[in-house]
Amino acid sequence: MASSFHERSKSKNKTEDLSSSSSTTLQSLDRSQSHIPEPNELVWKNCLGYQIPILNCFGLFSSALSSSSPTRVYQIWPGRNVFFFRGRVICGPDPRGLLLTSVSVFLSEWIFCSYVCRTLLNHFVLIITLSLLLTTVVIVSLILASTRDPGIIPRYESSPSEDIASVSRVRSRRITIDGIEMKIKYCRICKIFRPPRSCHCPVCDNCVEKFDHHCPWLSQCVGLRNYRYYMMFIFSSLVFFIYMLSFSWWKIGKKMSENEWGAFRAAAEIPETFALSLFSFTAIGFLGGLAIFHVYLIVLNQTARENFKQRYSKSRNPYDNGMINNIKEALFTRLPPPKINFRAAVEEAQDGSIRSTKSQENSMRMDGEGTSTMQINMNQEEI
Ligand SMILES: [Zn+2]
Ligand SMILES: [Zn+2]
Repeated sequence: MASSFHERSKSKNKTEDLSSSSSTTLQSLDRSQSHIPEPNELVWKNCLGYQIPILNCFGLFSSALSSSSPTRVYQIWPGRNVFFFRGRVICGPDPRGLLLTSVSVFLSEWIFCSYVCRTLLNHFVLIITLSLLLTTVVIVSLILASTRDPGIIPRYESSPSEDIASVSRVRSRRITIDGIEMKIKYCRICKIFRPPRSCHCPVCDNCVEKFDHHCPWLSQCVGLRNYRYYMMFIFSSLVFFIYMLSFSWWKIGKKMSENEWGAFRAAAEIPETFALSLFSFTAIGFLGGLAIFHVYLIVLNQTARENFKQRYSKSRNPYDNGMINNIKEALFTRLPPPKINFRAAVEEAQDGSIRSTKSQENSMRMDGEGTSTMQINMNQEEI
């Protein structure tokens, strides 16, 4: 009974805390996170007993950088990501998709240079140079999209001494963004209330901000911090394969008319060019569909996940600021810094607690790019 009263009391206090912020704007919420925290506020403790300093959204470190050869965050990060160059590069857990994509691009370029361009003597240098330029753009955008932090949200693990019973009973919170009521859910794995538009990726095992989808071709999540590079990859690949297909068809047509070949004879005589044209045609169909779908999503300011779940079928999309502003927000606004510094050192945990609730609040940054005047009301519910 006493325990129940205690929980209710805590819950009430939380509701009051939350309702007290009901009149604050997103802008002021962001400002409230800009303070320099106490060292134990922005610390995440993992199951091995290490305290991990977490970058807040303004890139400030905690003071846990004292050991001479310290363990780094990326070495003990519980997600399934694979890190390279001592935590500087972060990839998804299964690099086979990324490898396959890279090989497809390089192989197409090699066939193009070695077999298709051989007969294009008049403009050989120009055509080869343009194809190499396109390949470079495709590979650079592929690397940028697949090796950047997509927007991983810091986890939170409470100390054993902390009473989290009341927290764990709260499964969702209702928030109001620009007059639209939305529900944010509690992530049992990351132990945070996920910010609006974020989701826990089951492949990478992380909560990701403005989660779009997990791309098997990049072997990486597509989220807030790599979406524009993903779009750059889609469009540059589309142009690349249109370029490949145009010259392949031109060569096939030329050979067929010169030698009076049928389609099967052409496939037998110039199989590399034929194979490249077929592969390019298939890739154009796939990439073209993706490009059209994502242009549609950008114009409406939706993520692929929101669209599949028909999140805004019954209510207005509070993030929709008109076509021009939506395009600006998706492609041209300044990207926020990563929330986690994977190269930061960790220090062994001391006995006792490790963080305050500010860590959790910090994780729950309201996602309101371009919507700084939105009013937020929050309520929580227990299930
Ligand atoms: Zn999560
Ligand atoms: Zn993922």
